[in-house]
Amino acid sequence: MAARPQPYLDDLNPAQRQAVETLDGPVLMLAGAGTGKTKALTTRIVHLLNTGRARPNEILAVTFTNKAAREMKERVGRLLGQTVEGMPWLGTFHSICVKLLRRHAELVGLKSNFTILDTDDQLRLLKQLVQAAGIDDKRWPARQLSGIIDGWKNRAITPDRVPAADAGAFNHQGPQLYAQYQARLKELNAVDFGDLLLHVVTIFQAHPDVLEQYQRWFRYILVDEYQDTNVAQYLWLRLLASRHKNICCVGDDDQSIYGWRGAEVGNILRFEKDFEGAHVVRLEQNYRSTPHILAAASGVIAGNQGRLGKTLWTDAQEGEKVRLIGHWDGEEEARWIGEEIESMQGGTRGMRGMSLDDMAILVRASHQMRAFEDRFLTIGLPYRVIGGPRFYERMEIRDAMAYFRVVVSPDDDLAFERIVNTPKRGLGDKAQQTIQTVARANGVSLVEGARLAVEQGMIKGKGGSELGQLVRDLDRWGRMAEDTDHAELAGIVLDESGYTTMWQNDKTPEAPGRLENLKELVKALEEFDNLQGFLEHVSLIMDNDKGGDGEKVSIMTLHAAKGLEFPAVFLPGWEDGLFPSQRSMDESGLKGLEEERRLAYVGITRAEEVCTISFAANRRVFGQWQSALPSRFIDELPEEHVEVLTPPGLYGGGYGAAGMASPAAQMMRGSDLHEKAAEANVYNSPGWRRLQARSQQRPVSQPSEARNTVIDATAVSSHALGERVFHQKFGYGAVVGIEGDKLEIDFDKAGTKKVVARFICAADD
Ligand code: ATP
Ligand code: MG
Repeated sequence: MAARPQPYLDDLNPAQRQAVETLDGPVLMLAGAGTGKTKALTTRIVHLLNTGRARPNEILAVTFTNKAAREMKERVGRLLGQTVEGMPWLGTFHSICVKLLRRHAELVGLKSNFTILDTDDQLRLLKQLVQAAGIDDKRWPARQLSGIIDGWKNRAITPDRVPAADAGAFNHQGPQLYAQYQARLKELNAVDFGDLLLHVVTIFQAHPDVLEQYQRWFRYILVDEYQDTNVAQYLWLRLLASRHKNICCVGDDDQSIYGWRGAEVGNILRFEKDFEGAHVVRLEQNYRSTPHILAAASGVIAGNQGRLGKTLWTDAQEGEKVRLIGHWDGEEEARWIGEEIESMQGGTRGMRGMSLDDMAILVRASHQMRAFEDRFLTIGLPYRVIGGPRFYERMEIRDAMAYFRVVVSPDDDLAFERIVNTPKRGLGDKAQQTIQTVARANGVSLVEGARLAVEQGMIKGKGGSELGQLVRDLDRWGRMAEDTDHAELAGIVLDESGYTTMWQNDKTPEAPGRLENLKELVKALEEFDNLQGFLEHVSLIMDNDKGGDGEKVSIMTLHAAKGLEFPAVFLPGWEDGLFPSQRSMDESGLKGLEEERRLAYVGITRAEEVCTISFAANRRVFGQWQSALPSRFIDELPEEHVEVLTPPGLYGGGYGAAGMASPAAQMMRGSDLHEKAAEANVYNSPGWRRLQARSQQRPVSQPSEARNTVIDATAVSSHALGERVFHQKFGYGAVVGIEGDKLEIDFDKAGTKKVVARFICAADD
């Protein structure tokens, strides 16, 4: 066959080329972030296809997420200059194993149409088994058993091979319950996530003929993010590769961030032992980040012990130092980042204008997202949340809001429908129909319909009595609303309705996150004068937010950001207890803390041009202010690569009051941001200065009071039709409509928009 042109090789450096062109035998590409590992891996696929070494379906390529798999397919197509006809074996471990298992299900006693249980189902099943065994599930929760079983599956341990050292697990009943659980799954023709790999490995080990078929078939194997593979995945790869030995793995020990899910960074070290004569390629040139960003990341990761150690360099232009900024509290942090994103978009600070698609906010814990979402919705900044629903779209938030809506307006039938049987009150379809019918017949709201139905004894049994209770509770909460603090009332409603308890009793892995989100919701409420104002704010921002698929800022967790890159990255919440997490700090030994440090390394190395790290001196948790110390990782940033900024709205003395003693805190004093900020138009406008002046009137020593001063609805609802006003984002305009806390304004530049009154001030005050 005539040699085809290979222009794609010209884009590679010599080390990458070597990794791509060494097609025979095992190759390990061990290199730091942004050195082009994924690029080399993708090019290798192209090269295999282009040289006719393999057909698309003979290549097994494993990526970490489905998104990464899609992108890799696209890139291969682009480099090849043609669409790739099916690469059926390019995907995640899970997606590939589902395919394999469907083909051979009968070998492990399943039918090929088996169902895959989600974590909820898995827990429910385990709970039944724990109860049937007569074990006190308060002392020995099923959730714990599920963790133990997942751990065994990650290590490819079947029930008959549980090691003696683990015999005492789960009150000595772990191994036996594991066996029962697997038997039960088989009866149900079901598998859990861990089974997907475990069953395939079991089949390969017990049926050499099946294994051989795939060993022959997969002529070339490629694995990205190899540092995050667990033992079962490693065994699976080793079994499949042991014939052709054409396996190419790429990874970075410094980016191993899934130890908590059983990943074994040691797999990298074993590679050279297991695959004799492995060709090890080291890439050292980073193509992603500027020198300051790279040096800052290297400085932080240097704090870990037992690293393989790597050199990284870049010939990118100097660029900006990593920017560090401290804020009074989390809301201030979100506000500042919002402003900063807008000014970057405008191309201020001597930089090119950036698209919102170029910017990302990476958080340690998903509950941190709320403050940003709230702020961005308020100022109309489009964003997307990667790897989960947006805050106000989450189920628990919608449920809670529905409760608040019914308390504020008992006529809100949609909200009532949502909560009448959440948590379960024994009201089935029939009971709910009865309520509807009674309401319609009497021309009243559903709440009134429910009251009548209960009074007339139309709903019997437990459902009837619980419904009666709910109606009485709603009356009572409605009366309380008159003289109870609204945030406190919100907490009471969620507690007394049984809604919080419902999630506390829920043992699914998602439940703690949902409880965190509910706390976050109450926190958001505290910023408003009353429930009504808050509900209007949310309905308005959700309404404003229907804009299609234009450019958007990305918000995601650090874990979800693995392998990605953005010109500008914001890393908020660098406080001890949040990042590194409290759990990692409480642990004895350094393991947890080192994994957090790797996460910090992953975060910083996502940035190409601008990396901004921030922390808040105070976070409010359930109405209580807690002061926080800047993250220990901040102290590990090499000073010469960091520029310390001070936020515009910073009022003197605040940091001292918060008791910040760390060197990082000391660095916060002395600022040049005011000067920089002056370059940005928004800070220069008289309206902005007035808003700033107003925000600086708040008393420094009592932040909770301060909050109420800024968000003073009575002061701002006094706008009149025709009045000239100023808005932070949209500039000057005239009021053309007033509806409670919302104003319709005809902006000089931005056209007619609905905005929340508290973000407006009179143009001439
Ligand atoms: P991570 O460890 O974060 O997954 P990586 O090592 O996989 O990083 P890539 O994502 O492949 O790195 O590459 C980082 C950036 O550098 C990408 O934008 C890529 O296009 C670019 N790049 C890689 N190799 C080269 C090269 N030889 N010449 C120019 N740009 C390159
Ligand atoms: Mg990569």
